[in-house]
Amino acid sequence: AGRSAPMPAIANALSIAGSDPSGGAGIQADLKTFSARGVYGMAVVTALTAQNTQGVSGIHVVPPDFVAEQIRTVFADIRVDAVKIGMIADVAIAGAVADVLARHREVPVVLDPVMIAKGGASLLTDDAVAALTGRLLPIATVITPNLPEAAALLGEPEACNRDEMAGQALRLMRFGAKAVLVKGGHLPGADSPDVLASAAGLTWFEAPRVATRNTHGTGCTLSSAIAAELAKGALPEEAVAVAKAYVAGAINAADALNVGSGHGPVHH
Ligand code: PLP
Repeated sequence: AGRSAPMPAIANALSIAGSDPSGGAGIQADLKTFSARGVYGMAVVTALTAQNTQGVSGIHVVPPDFVAEQIRTVFADIRVDAVKIGMIADVAIAGAVADVLARHREVPVVLDPVMIAKGGASLLTDDAVAALTGRLLPIATVITPNLPEAAALLGEPEACNRDEMAGQALRLMRFGAKAVLVKGGHLPGADSPDVLASAAGLTWFEAPRVATRNTHGTGCTLSSAIAAELAKGALPEEAVAVAKAYVAGAINAADALNVGSGHGPVHH
């Protein structure tokens, strides 16, 4: 008699995203988050950036067929319990990622529709917004746009208050994601409210705003923390609550780091 397979004690999470060699965002932030949240982390690279805490100086995009090959090769051997998608760079990569993941519809997908880096560099070509909404939103379990990203996906002005955020979260549901988390970190005020639209309705998540300029990688960290919880079997509402608390802690700890002179990273 052969050995029966052991119960999988530790979940496996895969990031499909860009590289930030300064370690604050992209796959580097995702892998740190996966480790901190107790899941085994993997990373398929969509693009290399050259950047530090002051900004992005260059982008080198991976050929879409090779992005697809990386994903296929991981899935061919390894059980993937959740996927996080970050920087997608262009239309061809959006299509390549969507084509491969369409064969794995049972795996939850968290999509962070990364468009612009903190310093203003564009991480997504303008024509790729339609590829995101047409190809990747329909296969997503949770999408995590900030206010400028939600506005760009909808082709609407940016939300200025909580009512407008909630309206945009509900309208973004039409693209086919199972849940939409609109992040209110760009709203003025003492709080940083996020709203989750799902089949269960609207759920608000609150966190006090932290006075620090070291917020590089917060979007990446939140989306990969959500993916880590989904990989462990959590529902989206639970996953977002845990992830939001984790990011708040990482922002609060950021000033313990001494990394660069621009927007520094959060501390995992
Ligand atoms: N992905 C990559 C590769 C990046 O370089 C960046 C920002 O520079 C992001 C994602 C988004 O970063 P944030 O988590 O700060 O929104």
